[in-house]
Amino acid sequence: MKLRAPQPGWTAKADVIVIGSGVAGLTTALQIRAHDLSVLLVTKSLIDAGSTKWAQGGIAAALGPGDSPEDHERDTLVAGAGLCDDEAVHVLVTEGPEAVRKLIARGAKFDRSETGEIALTREGGHLRNRILHAGGDATGAEVSRALLTAVNDDPGIEVVENALVIDALKNKDGVVCGVTLHVIGEGSRDGVGRAIARAVVVATGGLGQVYSQTTNPSVSTGDGVALALRAGAEVADVEFIQFHPTVLWIGGSSRGQQPLISEAVRGEGAILRNQKVKPS
Ligand SMILES: Cc1cc2nc3c(=O)[nH]c(=O)nc-3n(C[C@H](O)[C@H](O)[C@H](O)COP(=O)(O)OP(=O)(O)OC[C@H]3O[C@@H](n4cnc5c(N)ncnc54)[C@H](O)[C@@H]3O)c2cc1C
Repeated sequence: MKLRAPQPGWTAKADVIVIGSGVAGLTTALQIRAHDLSVLLVTKSLIDAGSTKWAQGGIAAALGPGDSPEDHERDTLVAGAGLCDDEAVHVLVTEGPEAVRKLIARGAKFDRSETGEIALTREGGHLRNRILHAGGDATGAEVSRALLTAVNDDPGIEVVENALVIDALKNKDGVVCGVTLHVIGEGSRDGVGRAIARAVVVATGGLGQVYSQTTNPSVSTGDGVALALRAGAEVADVEFIQFHPTVLWIGGSSRGQQPLISEAVRGEGAILRNQKVKPS
């Protein structure tokens, strides 16, 4: 016998539903608003709970003097050792500088040098200084803060927190026209509901939590990818999961999100050792 969810107790409508409130979901919501369409932004925990606020070291973009998207592309392809999606790399390096300028226009404050220029540092694989950062190693928290402020200031975006999206809904032609979701906790909506829209954007982040140890936060469980698969979407490259090489060892029995030792530490020249060094 199939276990069935209860009938939806409420219905919401918008032009576009965005699932997820990390940098991808928040940026998409703001971009959609630039076309004067209404947005329903749903997120399964608190609005700042994804990986975005945990990002530390910074953002790579060809912004420094003498740097270029071509140089950034070359470094990325070399570091990718033949595994890169060339088109994705091209988009990343050519659109990156403009995306950073947009973040600044939306209120993100990156660290500056004494002369007022954006301070750029270097990280693994880059032959130039092209990593911008905020608050030292609080880059993600600053990006998240700026985007959340912009989203909260926009009356055309309805945000529903604690809203776990369960499945996509399809119309009679088999086209996705919304989602079912379960709101657990206090908020503007409650219980099982449905949301209807012309388009649904899945911006649900990574899935590091399927492993017993990860640097990803508890919401990174991959259920967004799973619901897309159930709806018939093609997914690609799910085998690429980031495991940071520098994680603070807090004991072999520790499970779930582990503390990252910032990538900036390596970028600034720290050397990785695979053995304990006796104190002198
Ligand atoms: C510790 C750490 C350090 C990092 N450092 C850097 C760095 O220095 N530089 C860098 O470029 N990148 C870094 N990253 C990677 C970067 O943070 C991520 O690539 C980026 O934040 C992903 O953004 P996102 O919007 O795709 O996902 P997320 O920010 O994870 O957002 C996903 C959202 O989807 C929601 N969600 C998931 N499933 C559902 C569901 N079923 N229903 C409703 N909502 C759902 C989540 O609650 C969340 O709001 C780091 C990541 C970690 C974990």
